[in-house]
Amino acid sequence: MPRQPAPAGAPNRTGADPGDAALFVSDLHLTPGQPELTALFLEWLGTRAQGARAVYILGDLFDAWIGDDDDGYADVETGLATLTAGGTRCCLLHGNRDFLLGRRFARRTGVELLRDPTRITLAGEPVLLMHGDLLCTDDIPYQRFRRRVRNPVVQWLFLRQGLRRRREIAADYRRRSADAMADKTAAIMDVNAGTVLKYMRRHRVRRLIHGHTHRPADHALDLDGMAAHRHVLADWSPAGGEVLVVAGDGRLRRESVRPCGAAAADL
Ligand code: MN
Repeated sequence: MPRQPAPAGAPNRTGADPGDAALFVSDLHLTPGQPELTALFLEWLGTRAQGARAVYILGDLFDAWIGDDDDGYADVETGLATLTAGGTRCCLLHGNRDFLLGRRFARRTGVELLRDPTRITLAGEPVLLMHGDLLCTDDIPYQRFRRRVRNPVVQWLFLRQGLRRRREIAADYRRRSADAMADKTAAIMDVNAGTVLKYMRRHRVRRLIHGHTHRPADHALDLDGMAAHRHVLADWSPAGGEVLVVAGDGRLRRESVRPCGAAAADL
């Protein structure tokens, strides 16, 4: 096939797959305060993502989501709706920032909400998808906080508040979370190796894809004497993002996403 020159501003399509690839992203942390980041993601959605079979967003697409009446991300919702209307499947599981994404968001965008964890089949192989915060079991205060905010009663009480009040509560939570993180060591905020193996055993997989820790890497593991793999997705910034690409034949690679004008290249 002759190589087509990439249109200006489009991601580098050299080596791009036919439309049978699944794309994995997480931790974009989109926020109205960073329009360049939203633009980067929308550009990617409208170009590279459209050529894929499926897009999996493994949590923290939004830096905060305070309910499906949140009106701060209409442009992102339109981008997702356009993607799914074009026939690309888009699945999302909740992160610790956007766990309130609900059915109304899903209906508006055509995005399918997945449970955390979810087991899927990729090129005939079972693969476990998680956001990743459930793996950070050394961070006991965080796990306690997580159980509280995931409680349906607590969520119901929160969602009954007006939008403005919910924005204040969310901002206050982010401030306190930043303070708490400053006191924690890097090791405490990473995954617990035993917890990783426990989830992989329980769901009978030898491959796990997750985000959350912002430590992109491909780890080779020993799972009860068998080779296993843990792929950690990268977080995004206005300077660029990264996608884990799983081709139809099961081959994996990482692809960088650069803003318009900057050169894109596979890593
Ligand atoms: Mn997270």
